[in-house]
Amino acid sequence: MKLNFCSLSSGSSGNCYYLGNEFHGILIDAGISATSIRKFLKNMDISMQTIMGVLITHNHIDHIRGLEVLTRKNNFPAFTTHKIWNSILTPQKNISRDSMREIFLMQKFHVADFDIEAFPVCHDAPETIGFHICAGDKKITIVTDLGHICQTAAPYIKAANLLVIESNYDEQMLVNGRYPHYLKARIQSDHGHLGNHQTAAFLADIISDNLSDICLAHLSINNNTPELVLQTLYQTFSERGIMLNGQPRISILNRNIPTKMIKLTE
Ligand SMILES: [Zn+2]
Ligand SMILES: [Zn+2]
Repeated sequence: MKLNFCSLSSGSSGNCYYLGNEFHGILIDAGISATSIRKFLKNMDISMQTIMGVLITHNHIDHIRGLEVLTRKNNFPAFTTHKIWNSILTPQKNISRDSMREIFLMQKFHVADFDIEAFPVCHDAPETIGFHICAGDKKITIVTDLGHICQTAAPYIKAANLLVIESNYDEQMLVNGRYPHYLKARIQSDHGHLGNHQTAAFLADIISDNLSDICLAHLSINNNTPELVLQTLYQTFSERGIMLNGQPRISILNRNIPTKMIKLTE
């Protein structure tokens, strides 16, 4: 069975990720317009008809911007927890009840060929979740907004063959940058985002032969660069004596354009 992953967009201007085999696909978050999602998928020869659902991580606008139109114009449901649905639904966000599916933390559910579990992460939304997805013998974990890696989330992250994890900000750039003090404190807090050193140190702790792909996601436009993410990662690995011989593959997810398709199985 083929299994492909790609990011359509990653970062504070919009998050949307695709995972699919030759028959079906799912989306994770809908933070860009439904039109862009359809266009990006079409450019990769993926029909919207093959999408069986969208999983939603939390209510921040960079994760749900396109959700209302996406569910209205397509026939597939959207999955998230009761608490997150409550935080998404406002008089302005009118999502049809027919497309809403409620899921429960750490209880498996199925969408087409995918077995999925949601787990809680620490972030400054009413509730935020990561997803652990099993497809055939491959395991994919997606955690894009979290201030630190708590004990509940760590096992799901460690079990991944393909891991999408944020590396949001360079610590020096954030501290020396122009953001107001309260915003710097929010981003750095345990309920904010992961900095490059935090992500790199965690990856150095968990790296194993099982991990085939690391996708570094949700880079800040003002407080990070792809070069700094990689430099921090390689330096941390080298200090820990970790040598990379082509595995895991490391990708930086683009802010506003899709990445190349990552093939997990041919
Ligand atoms: Zn976000
Ligand atoms: Zn967020």
